[in-house]
Amino acid sequence: MYYLPTRIIFGEHALPSSQAQIAGLGSKALIVTGKSSAARSGALDELLNFLAVQNPVIYDGISENPHLESVVTGADLMREQDCDYVIGIGGGSPLDAAKAISLAAANKLGIDDIYRTDLFKRAFPIVAVPTTSGTGSEATQYAVLTDSRIGKKAGWGHALAFPALAIVDPRYTLSLSYHVTLNTAIDALSHLLEGLYSRLREPLIFPLIHKGIELIVKHLPIALNDPQNLEARTALSQASLYGGMTIAQGSTTLQHSIGYPLTTAFNVPHGLANGIVMKQMMELYWPEVDGLIDSAFGSFDYNLQQFYDWLDKLELRAEMRIDEDFIASKVPEVMASRNMANNPVLASPDDVAKIYRSLM
Ligand code: NAP
Ligand code: FE
Repeated sequence: MYYLPTRIIFGEHALPSSQAQIAGLGSKALIVTGKSSAARSGALDELLNFLAVQNPVIYDGISENPHLESVVTGADLMREQDCDYVIGIGGGSPLDAAKAISLAAANKLGIDDIYRTDLFKRAFPIVAVPTTSGTGSEATQYAVLTDSRIGKKAGWGHALAFPALAIVDPRYTLSLSYHVTLNTAIDALSHLLEGLYSRLREPLIFPLIHKGIELIVKHLPIALNDPQNLEARTALSQASLYGGMTIAQGSTTLQHSIGYPLTTAFNVPHGLANGIVMKQMMELYWPEVDGLIDSAFGSFDYNLQQFYDWLDKLELRAEMRIDEDFIASKVPEVMASRNMANNPVLASPDDVAKIYRSLM
């Protein structure tokens, strides 16, 4: 089955050309964004050029790995200011927060209910304007949030959280730093590979997965060396979107579950957390799905060894202090995460501990 209720507008100047569709979603927007990405990318100005007449409210309080508190603040603002749709601009953090704000405001959820998907009955329309090329959140029903009270990061998925509109203009990623470019592309690569690993894999979209992997393998090194290269940026934005379309069907797996504690405990950026365990994950899953990985790489005359060499050249490194106490406390959290049901083989607590030990 393939289900995606999101209208996607992709390419240069996608935002101004979507003017009528955006304005048609409501009479007053809450714009949800981070500290500076909406402005630095140029997306906010382009939006306000035609949306200013609606007097939209701007909420720029979203941090990386967005907290439940910021969702509650945004939802309160939305109701106080009578906003009737949400526009998220930024990386995955503001986009996920925008989804959660829409659901929290529409269903009057308090901080303890934001993970209660059984309470999700309605949503305000959501527009997603990505300014990174990694999460694909513009085309997924997921929001990944952090409960800072217990230091835990976890996601939920609900069909009401699919954006009504995804507006992807690769020009907005031209201002990304080297490391955000790298880490977010690795996140997208992880989503694409997980689309092959996941038990919920959907063969209908294998051609998109193959293309997405090829685009990242070929264009990430170019974008890293030449950040203003719009062709490479376009390829990465397209691959990221394909990654989102992939996990919207097949969800994620251990690869993501194992990374969340690295982010909450050591502040490892999300994509990098996926990247430093990518090879270990390949080794664990390869025997189960080797034909699928072979065909993905084979679709552009590539092979596993070449891929490992490519990955090594990226020199993915994170500052962490993993010890046995960390492993003992985090393995149960990983084992309990909802994505674990999607692994192609049952992963044991020992498998998870072994992967963490490989990072010591
Ligand atoms: P992010 O946390 O949204 O942003 C990372 C950094 O990049 C921030 O400092 C941000 O600045 C900056 N930035 C964003 N766009 C920029 C631009 N165009 N120019 C310069 N700087 C820019 O990063 P992300 O990797 O895109 O999102 C990660 C989050 O998404 C994680 O919480 C992850 O778990 C989640 N995720 C969600 C899904 C899903 O399907 N929903 C899938 C995978 C991951 P600001 O502070 O100004 O924003
Ligand atoms: Fe991700």
